[in-house]
Amino acid sequence: MPTAALDLKEAILQLKKERNAVILAHNYQTGDIQDLADYVGDSLGLAYQAKATEADVIVFCGVHFMAETAKIVNPSKTVVLPDRDAGCSLEQSCPGPELEAFLQANAAKNYYVIAYINCSAHVKSLCDVICTSGNAVRIVEQAPSDRPILFVPDANLGAWVMEQTGRKMDLWQGSCYVHVEFTRDSIQRIKDEYPDALVVAHPECTQAVRLLADEVCSTEKMISWCKNAPSDHLIVVTESGMLHRLRKEVPGKTLIAGPTERCACADCKYMKLNTLEKLHQCLDRLSPEVVLPEDIRAKAEAPLLRMLEQSK
Ligand code: SF4
Repeated sequence: MPTAALDLKEAILQLKKERNAVILAHNYQTGDIQDLADYVGDSLGLAYQAKATEADVIVFCGVHFMAETAKIVNPSKTVVLPDRDAGCSLEQSCPGPELEAFLQANAAKNYYVIAYINCSAHVKSLCDVICTSGNAVRIVEQAPSDRPILFVPDANLGAWVMEQTGRKMDLWQGSCYVHVEFTRDSIQRIKDEYPDALVVAHPECTQAVRLLADEVCSTEKMISWCKNAPSDHLIVVTESGMLHRLRKEVPGKTLIAGPTERCACADCKYMKLNTLEKLHQCLDRLSPEVVLPEDIRAKAEAPLLRMLEQSK
C-alpha cells in the first residue's frame, strides 16, 4: 500500500483503469475523494450515472443505500464501497420489517407509498415509487389522487413537500441526524453576523430552519442557486462536504457553512468513514461488495425505474 498521498491517488487511478471501474462520489464525500471521482453529484444524478455506466465495476463513494441503489439499477456490475459500515440515520429509522408490518396492519387504506431514496433495498421493494430531494415535489405531484400517500422515511422532507404541493401525506417519523442538528438559533446567529448573506438549506432540515432560508433545495440545485443568488455571501445549511464542490464551482462568492449548536459546520459521520486508503483497498480487493437477493432487487428496481421515468 503506497503511503504518500500522491502515490495513493496515482495507485487508485491505475487500479481503476485495470479494473475498468468508474468512481461515483456523493456531494458529501471529502474533497480528496470528490477530486478523484469520475462523477460527483446528488442521489438522483448518481442513480442515472450508475444505470448508464459501461464500466465493469462501480466504486460507490457514499453510504450503503446509495451503493445498493447502483446495484439495483445495474445488477450485472460489480458494485463496491470503501466502508461497509457507512450507514444512514434515515435508513435506520425505517427498517423493512417494520414498514412491512405497518402496511399489513393498514392494508385497508391502500396507501400509495413514496420512499425517499435514503432507505434500504427492502424498503424500496415495498414502495410504489422512489424520490430524491431533487425530484420529490415532481414525484408527489404525479401520485394518484384517489389514494392516500404514505411518505417514508424523512418526516422533514415530507413536510416540506406537503408545503410545496398542498398534497396531504402520512409521514413516517424518520430524520437525518445531521440536518436536524441545525437549529433556528444557530442559523439566526450567523445571519446576524452576516446581515447581507442569503441562506440556502436542504429540505431535510426542520421547518424552523427552513423558514429562515431564502431557498430550500437539493444539493445539486444548490450549485445553480448559489451561482445566481444576488449576494456575495451565502450561508449553506447542509452537510459540510457540499462546501468543497460549491467552492470549486462558485469561486467568486463567500460560502459560509451553516453552523450547528455544537460546531461551525456539520459532518455526517457515515459519509466521512470513506477515505482514500479504503477507496484504494476496495478497488484492490473488490470488497466490500454489494450483493442483493434477486427477488428483493427486482422488486426494488420497479419503483426506482418509475422515479427515473417520472423525473425526465
Ligand atoms: S447526511 Fe443524513 S441523510 Fe445523508 S447519509 Fe448522513 S445521516 Fe443519511
